[in-house]
Amino acid sequence: MFRVLVLIFLVCFSACAISKQPHMNHFSPAKNIVVAHRGAWKKNNLPENSIASLRNAIELNCAGSEFDVRMTADDSLVINHDPNYNHLPIEKSTYANLAKLPLSNGEKFPTLQQYLQAGMTKNTATKFVCEIKPSDISVDRARIVATKVLALVRSMKAENRITYISFDFEILKQIIAIDPTAITQYLDGNKSPDEIKAAGISGIDYHFSVFKAHPDWIALAKKNNLILNAWTVNDLETMNWLLSNQFDFITTNEPELLFNRIKQNAN
Ligand code: MG
Repeated sequence: MFRVLVLIFLVCFSACAISKQPHMNHFSPAKNIVVAHRGAWKKNNLPENSIASLRNAIELNCAGSEFDVRMTADDSLVINHDPNYNHLPIEKSTYANLAKLPLSNGEKFPTLQQYLQAGMTKNTATKFVCEIKPSDISVDRARIVATKVLALVRSMKAENRITYISFDFEILKQIIAIDPTAITQYLDGNKSPDEIKAAGISGIDYHFSVFKAHPDWIALAKKNNLILNAWTVNDLETMNWLLSNQFDFITTNEPELLFNRIKQNAN
């Protein structure tokens, strides 16, 4: 009899515990908020920032696919995260020299033009989240890079498909000066939402730890109608926290995991 009572207790307890799973406190966003960081590369073991990773993000129906832009010594705009490609400093090397070695999947070292071109076919949902890297040479050169990126985007009629992000405040100011309608987000996490609003920048895209340290910035950003985005979020706990705080976008190396999490919340 005692065993039966214990069993009944355990069944009831488990049922209560399951019903208290954190479904209800987690926001299920009405719109797509998943941004693939350097494309969707991880699950399929693709090179980061490759056209294949961009195409995979598009196939996953991500809201955005992020990538990093730098400029070679002979003024080619190229896609690479690090300042070096195969030990060659990008800013001090010609494109021809850099492109001698392909990416690990055999792809040619992509230019921005090739990257955008590849992302504009069969793509109705995925925005380009274009990070313009600061220049190691000068702030002036960084402004030139920004100017050239905008000119290329305009020539390709891709203005409505793109969000610009940067750690370099001067790059974002240059973008806004050229095109006040451009969507821009600041990355560095050292400016308050009020400062961002005053500079005419559209949003903040900060490391999630910045929002943990300044939780008041979440409400302040919303009050200022700033886009609210966090990077680079690869674990469920942080995803849940950002979802419950109704972030506009979450940038992740694990887009499949985030899509699954959101689907669970919706059920
Ligand atoms: Mg980046």
